[in-house]
Amino acid sequence: MRFLLTLLVALLGAGVGSFLNVAAVRLHERRSLGGRSKCDACGRTLGALELVPVFGYVFLGGRCHACHARIPWFHPVTEAAAALLFALAFWTRATHPLFVTWPIILAVVRDLAAVSFLVLLALTDLLYGELPDRFTWPAIGVLAILAALAGRPPLDVLLGAVAGAAFFLIQRVLSRGAWVGDGDAFLGAAIGALLGVCGGLTAILLAYVYGAVAAVVLLAAHKANRKTALPFAPFLSAAALTVLFFGPALWNAYLGLMMR
Ligand SMILES: [Zn+2]
Repeated sequence: MRFLLTLLVALLGAGVGSFLNVAAVRLHERRSLGGRSKCDACGRTLGALELVPVFGYVFLGGRCHACHARIPWFHPVTEAAAALLFALAFWTRATHPLFVTWPIILAVVRDLAAVSFLVLLALTDLLYGELPDRFTWPAIGVLAILAALAGRPPLDVLLGAVAGAAFFLIQRVLSRGAWVGDGDAFLGAAIGALLGVCGGLTAILLAYVYGAVAAVVLLAAHKANRKTALPFAPFLSAAALTVLFFGPALWNAYLGLMMR
């Protein structure tokens, strides 16, 4: 039963991922969110089969059925990532034999919202190097409310948001706006509201670890040089989700190492 429900939640995640792709691209191009999806190259309205997340892409061999233009790589990646993360969220929370208890439902809803916003913001930063207010502000509000409903003390939510924003705003002031943008501070606030002061700051520090590892790998592979600017939101999002899903386990492992 738990397995079957996780599969259903994964399918929901793939559908949400598909919507996040559309939202990221259309907001950037200032188009409305309504209307059927079209091929970017030839303008043909997509058929039902082509709209199926991931499988539509694989089925078509990554190209438009009519004009053979390449479908952007991030379409199946976002869909697959959202499906996996939705499944992970449900699998890690729904451990009680009776799934339908309020604490579990609220935790799952909070996690699915967090995955959706964090994947969306990682994507807009990766594609366009921007974190639009129209995504970050709702992220702060929605994640703050859901974190509090799922049991985080409201004061911790508030202080977490302030600490997350302050971490980036201080750097912004020190560097006169050269190191970080406003978007990073708003994303920091959303992550702080979600994870609280302790978890939020842990996630931000972990993001620097992820970023450093990625930079070393890219330098070694000659895919980047010392002046390449890496978008930071993907690392922040990955770190926030790591703390959200594995925070207590990581903390115990860390304490175990220290106590030896
Ligand atoms: Zn086409």
